[in-house]
Amino acid sequence: MEGMLYLCATPIGNLEDITLRVLRTLREADIIAAEDTRQTAKLLNHYEIKTPLFSYHEHNKREKTPTLVRKMQEGAHIALVTDAGTPAISDPGEDLVRACHEAGVPVTSLPGPSAAVTALALSGMKARRFTFEGFLPTDKKEREAALVRLAESTGTTILYEAPHRLCRTLQILQEAVGEERPLAVCRELTKRHEEVLHFSLGEALRYFSENEPKGEFVLILAGEDEAKKKEEEQKKWREMPLAEHMEMYLGQGLDKKEAMKRTAKDRGVSKRDIYRALLDESSGESAE
Ligand code: SAM
Repeated sequence: MEGMLYLCATPIGNLEDITLRVLRTLREADIIAAEDTRQTAKLLNHYEIKTPLFSYHEHNKREKTPTLVRKMQEGAHIALVTDAGTPAISDPGEDLVRACHEAGVPVTSLPGPSAAVTALALSGMKARRFTFEGFLPTDKKEREAALVRLAESTGTTILYEAPHRLCRTLQILQEAVGEERPLAVCRELTKRHEEVLHFSLGEALRYFSENEPKGEFVLILAGEDEAKKKEEEQKKWREMPLAEHMEMYLGQGLDKKEAMKRTAKDRGVSKRDIYRALLDESSGESAE
């Protein structure tokens, strides 16, 4: 019999946020691999599930991944759960999934709660295009790269943060993108004290410096204003002399018509304006 890995999403607060399929899978699995067995035991007790638990977390995953893969190769059906939400999303699981794919062990994902999507939906921020950053990297270089991406992005960004690091992270974000950027702070999702607060980054930092952050947080940061970003880029292009701008495209092998089209687009003006300005420049030159 072929074994299998089942990624089981569990509640992020409200115990009722669990699917029928996850409950059945937890009940029928041979083993439940859990990030914190005591935490998962509470959920299992609530639903009277008696499946044996196996500890699988960030600090033992290197050692335990091969053991779990071997069990599945021998036919075991293993359900993976983390403390809350969807396994592998800023949680242990990614490595186990990869190891299963490599070993040819089938994997399936049982959808359910994730703080990221729950917060984005609740925030009212633009959800058409978004980036999930999770926790900002602790490595300085990686963090700086993430902040550069964030400063330039016109899409919404989702971030996780622990309460004791919230102010520090707001400070870092403010330094990277300025204090005006709109932000929704989503707190204690699906719990009794769930709230969503709308601020600018500067206001959020002031608020949480005076009101100690408590509970769990997801930050939904708006992207840079697209119209403003475009205007700034066009302004930069307009600072370049027109002839030099045209020469740049001609030097890339474009014909004059295409070079004028691109130059006009970069500068946010019409092709006719470019044509006229070039005519003026050349008649100025011949008059000299
Ligand atoms: N795998 C999980 C998921 O799918 O959402 C995320 C796990 S990550 C280790 C934990 C972080 O998720 C917390 O620090 C917090 O940022 C966020 N989080 C989890 N539950 C939350 C809740 N009920 N309200 C707000 N944020 C929550």
